[in-house]
Parts: sequence; structure tokens; C-alpha cells
Amino acid sequence: MARKIAAGNWKMNGTEAALAEVEALAGMIGTPDCEVLLCPPATLIDRMVARAEGSVVAVGAQACHPATSGAHTGDIAADMLADAGATQVILGHSERRADHGETDADVAAQAAAALTAGLTAIICVGETEAERDAEVTLNLVASQLAGSIPEGADPARLVVAYEPVWAIGTGRTPTLDQIAEVHTHIRAELTQRLGAAAIDIPLLYGGSVKPGNAAEIFAVNDVDGALVGGASLKAADFAGIVTALSAA
Ligand code: PEP
Repeated sequence: MARKIAAGNWKMNGTEAALAEVEALAGMIGTPDCEVLLCPPATLIDRMVARAEGSVVAVGAQACHPATSGAHTGDIAADMLADAGATQVILGHSERRADHGETDADVAAQAAAALTAGLTAIICVGETEAERDAEVTLNLVASQLAGSIPEGADPARLVVAYEPVWAIGTGRTPTLDQIAEVHTHIRAELTQRLGAAAIDIPLLYGGSVKPGNAAEIFAVNDVDGALVGGASLKAADFAGIVTALSAA
């Protein structure tokens, strides 16, 4: 069985004042039966690590550059994130793919760098609405996975997030059957590529997860947790999702 993870992606939100949410969250969730991860903007990583000390909340990052150093203005290397206290990094989020033109090959190079730096790589895949309407979701997700996971990746440090682009920040979610279909397919693809160890890779669903729909999503086969955007910004909302996952 894969371990359960509630992961929050703060995106480009948060300054010092927002860190109060971390202490509030830690107080609300105690010691849940799942991992809890928050990925703030890079500017807050080390401060969030300090504020989360002594709690179950781990801290991650939202992107990394594939190189270890050099002339890449504005970018951050994976070992810099690790040095700041991050233990995991989200890669291939659809906003990175859209805003920065990141390809599957870019994501694979970033993931290789993340793994070398000792980070866990949370690799995001998911279809646009047009792709779902064209009924290419399963093939697309398989191809994104094949291209985004680097050769020789250690399955123990991989997490996959299925995030339909049309469900992110929209309040819309796929049906539970649609989530089950994609997650089953992802597990099969991972097993074909990585063998029996794929059973232990956490598969997260992401896209408009809220306290009100979390429990039914977590009951879906092969859903091992969630990658949460908007609802991870407020401690009370994210605590509701953590509690639902802990009980799943
Ligand atoms: C996300 O951006 O990864 C995400 C799932 O966002 P939201 O929960 O706001 O839909």
C-alpha cells in the first residue's frame, strides 16, 4: 500500500504573515494517519521549516532547475531547495507547463536533478478540457508519465499527481468514476515501467479538492491523497482535508 499524502501548493501566494497558517494547521491536525506537506513559494521555505518544527508538517518546493548551478537568472537548483529545508518538489504542474513552456523532457531533467539532490519528486500529469472531450485522456496521461519520469528513477522517491487542468481552481471535479479510471491507468503504467515497486508510489488527485468533497475522493481506489491549491492556503480548510485523508 502506498503511503497517504495531503500536499498543499501555495503557488505564488504568501509572505511572512501567511506563516501563521502553518502553526494553526499543526495545532488542528495533531498527528494524523497520513503525511502532510506544504509547498510555499521558495522565499518562504526556510521560514516555514522553522515554523513547522516539532509538527508533522513537511515543507516542499514548487519547481526546480535541472542544473546544479550556473547562469540561469531567477532559477533555483534542487540542492538549493534541499539546503533551504525542502524535502520534496512539485514538478510539471500544468501552470509551469503553460506559463513556462515546460515539456515532459524538461520535467524529466528536473526530476533527475531533484532525486540527485535527495528530494522526492511529485510529478504532475493531466489533460485539458479539450483533450478530455477528444477522449485522449488515458493516452495523454500515459505519454506524460513516460516522458516525465527520468530513466533509473528510484520509485521510493516518486509521487504522481493526476491533475486535470480543467479542474484546477475552477470548483469543477471529474466524476469519481473518471478519477478511478485515470488512477487505475496510472498505476498500471507505472507498474509496467517500474515493476512491483510501483504499488508503493503515492498517487494524488488534484483539482478543486475541498473539505466537502475530500472524503469521497479519498475513497476512490488508487487515490492515496491530494495535491491541493486554493484550499491549502487556509489552515481550517486544509485541516479538513488532512482529517478526511487520515480517516480514509
Ligand atoms: C493545483 O494547483 O495543484 C490545484 C489542485 O489547485 P486547486 O486545488 O485550487 O484546484
